[in-house]
Amino acid sequence: MLDYTEQIDFYLKRLFPICRSITGEGNRETLRILQEIIPLIIKEYPTGQQVYDWTIPKEWNIKDAWIKNSRGEKIVDFKCSNLHVVSYSVSVHKTVQIDELKPHLHFLEHLPEAIPYRTSYYKEDWGFCLSYNDYQCYFNDGDIYEVFIDSELKNGSLTVGELLIEGKSKKEYLISTYICHPSLANDNLSGVIMTAFLGKELQEIKNNFSYRIIFVPETIGAIAYCANNEKIMKKIKTGFVVSCVGGPGKYGYKQSFNKEHWVNRFIEQTFHENRIQYRTYPFDIHGSDERQYASPGFRMNTPSICKDKYYEYEFYHTSLDNLNFINAETINDTLDFYLQIMEKLDKNLTYEKRIPECEVMLSRQGLYPKEGGGLIPGETTTNELDTLLWLLFYCDGRTSLFEISEILHEPMNRIYELAFTLEEKKILVRTEPE
Ligand code: ZN
Repeated sequence: MLDYTEQIDFYLKRLFPICRSITGEGNRETLRILQEIIPLIIKEYPTGQQVYDWTIPKEWNIKDAWIKNSRGEKIVDFKCSNLHVVSYSVSVHKTVQIDELKPHLHFLEHLPEAIPYRTSYYKEDWGFCLSYNDYQCYFNDGDIYEVFIDSELKNGSLTVGELLIEGKSKKEYLISTYICHPSLANDNLSGVIMTAFLGKELQEIKNNFSYRIIFVPETIGAIAYCANNEKIMKKIKTGFVVSCVGGPGKYGYKQSFNKEHWVNRFIEQTFHENRIQYRTYPFDIHGSDERQYASPGFRMNTPSICKDKYYEYEFYHTSLDNLNFINAETINDTLDFYLQIMEKLDKNLTYEKRIPECEVMLSRQGLYPKEGGGLIPGETTTNELDTLLWLLFYCDGRTSLFEISEILHEPMNRIYELAFTLEEKKILVRTEPE
């Protein structure tokens, strides 16, 4: 099994403190660091660009933010955690009464140590997030406070990262993850780093298919990418949305919109092969960027494999989803699992017989017992011959090798190797159905 644990750990520590959002320098810095792992192309989509029903917002950057008490002591400080500021907060500097400040403070009474993660992308506002313990300790009725946010909203751009790994076939699979979360570990720094190493591995393999790997801010980034690459994205039918892959809990997977799709069975089969217990989450209209990819205009099947799925764990979208909550070894395990799936997926070819009409004359190819007449199916035929005959029967240019392996109850690898032999003998030719 491959081991990237040390490198994953290195990049977790390096990327965790960066303040990311749906736009801004933090996203560019993150993508530039990922370029050390894979040759990502960084693309910018400008503020104001119309992308389907959405408009790319102004670019947001922040330098500093704090709240001081009446003695001039900083009681909330952005420099300690970038979660302290509501993402996309506009600049503010004033002295306020507690009653005016309260609607701008966010905390969680049920998780008193945690700073919540909050955003205000599409409503110009400002706010601070803090632990309930700090709120109780530092904020009192009747007091006044000085609030300061040094941020900028300007006409700029939204940044995405893209890597196309070309295989023998131009048919593409999508691997998409999101880069818009600030200092939050499982959701989704774990997914960002795992996707980078998945790309690195896929680059080193001689692939049958092509892989499009994208790092986009969630929702608006995926929408912007689809709008700017519509023709390509409409051709892609299958992929994965990588999210939350490093938590301490159980494995699970969110099915793609068509639960009968082979990619879901692929995942389940691989869980079984690894003897991993898992939870199945049916497709839902909430979630991550599969919401865009599965929309009627695209209808892509993009499941997600998670270890502690978003919404499900207690520390979700809080400062407790940090580097103590996840670990690099778990991310490496999930990476290994994803790679097993990719290996199968890359072998999931479709073939048709060069001469589809009637049977192939196998004896001419040295593939049939030389002496005829004495053959009773199931008794004197070899299992190998039966598999070969069935494989030729199902190779209609549409049925994939995985589907054939399921029908025949044979391991995928065996079917793949057999098909490959028949391809070399020019009995089978590859096809590219949708
Ligand atoms: Zn999230």
